[in-house]
Amino acid sequence: MLKLDLQAFAVPFRRTSKTKKRMRRTHLKKEVSASVKCPKCGANLKPHRACAECGNYKGEEKLKIKKEEE
Ligand SMILES: [Zn+2]
Repeated sequence: MLKLDLQAFAVPFRRTSKTKKRMRRTHLKKEVSASVKCPKCGANLKPHRACAECGNYKGEEKLKIKKEEE
């Protein structure tokens, strides 16, 4: 059997309280990804990408979007 010398480890003096744990974790959160609006149609886009709604990028139509005919 492997015996561990407990004096060799740093052991927490107290249990971390709910409040202290939660205060520490306020900095742990997901980043919100950047978004811009299409100057032509106003749809939300990721920066440096052609618009998925109208295909516009830097004032030119870069993508041809098929519109559903009714
Ligand atoms: Zn657009």
